[in-house]
Amino acid sequence: MKKHNFNAGPSILPEVVYEKTARAILDFNGTGLSILSISHRSKEFDEVMAQADSLLRELLDIPDNYKIIFIGGGASTHFFEVPANFLNTKAGYVNTGVWAKKAIKEAKRYGQTEVVASSEDRNFTYIPKGFDIPADLDYLHITTNNTIYGTEYTADLDSPVPVIADMSSDILSRPRDVSKYAMIYGGAQKNLAPAGVTFAIIREDMLDRIQRDLPTMVDYRTHVTNNSMFNTPPVFAIYALTETLNWLKSIGGVPEIYRRNQEKAALLYDEIDRNPLFVGTATEEDRSLMNICFVMAEGYEELAPEFLEFAKSQGMVGIKGHRLVGGFRASCYNALPKESVEALVACMQEFARKHG
Ligand code: PMP
Repeated sequence: MKKHNFNAGPSILPEVVYEKTARAILDFNGTGLSILSISHRSKEFDEVMAQADSLLRELLDIPDNYKIIFIGGGASTHFFEVPANFLNTKAGYVNTGVWAKKAIKEAKRYGQTEVVASSEDRNFTYIPKGFDIPADLDYLHITTNNTIYGTEYTADLDSPVPVIADMSSDILSRPRDVSKYAMIYGGAQKNLAPAGVTFAIIREDMLDRIQRDLPTMVDYRTHVTNNSMFNTPPVFAIYALTETLNWLKSIGGVPEIYRRNQEKAALLYDEIDRNPLFVGTATEEDRSLMNICFVMAEGYEELAPEFLEFAKSQGMVGIKGHRLVGGFRASCYNALPKESVEALVACMQEFARKHG
């Protein structure tokens, strides 16, 4: 039976990426060597790295005064690297959920950390708006898409201080004005690649603000100066990332994927709003295009395990909600085909016919 992969991360990648990486494992670009075994110092891998840089630049329209690095670790590594590099006096954080909180926890190790806005009062079901941003912050940290709660900033923030954004779960899914950010980072295992590589897009002038004596690997300047090759980078994950970017470019880039993502999300949110058995958890105006969270409607709560079983029998994978929210979460990342969303909607309709 066809599987519909709604996993939150690592998650579905384009079919062509599976095909190309499978081939490259056996013979990478006619080198007679596996991508798993080539040198990161080889001319062939240099080309992969250069392509990753130029494709990401082109697809996100990244201005020339930004540097891009692809390094190992996770978004969680940047949670401590960001304050280690940039928190000199005081940093501001917007608390929009578990990942934001983890970033805040690490920042506190390095200096004064102010939570300038939070949506914790309503279990992170919305994105705080209209809050004051103190002008004396070294930076303001936001999480543009909250993977667990299904909320997302739909507009880029205007800020008097540098904005640093965790875009792990919505990078390249919708247009973003990179020039409004001092730094964008994330783990690549949702919209870009298998697990193991992270991306960071850093405005050059930020590097001049680093004051701490940092371990070499923690200092962002190390990776910028060495084009992400100070140490051995995650070669295979970066190769897959490049192929994902090639795929995105081939289908029409961010404008086209944004159109597709809106179409997929509308299909599912419309069903959630229409179907008497289900109800969405995120405030409507802040609903994520990537992670769509819903629960059983009042009076139907006890049907949740049965719906999960039924959905599983129809080929749905990964729709159980995070334990902190309960219910269901359908992650609809870039590579998820519309047919998978249609299959989930059909499943919800069938279930409602049985129980309505
Ligand atoms: N930030 C966000 C928004 C995430 O969704 C995740 C992982 N799901 C992380 C950070 C942590 O990423 P990693 O596992 O790569 O450290």
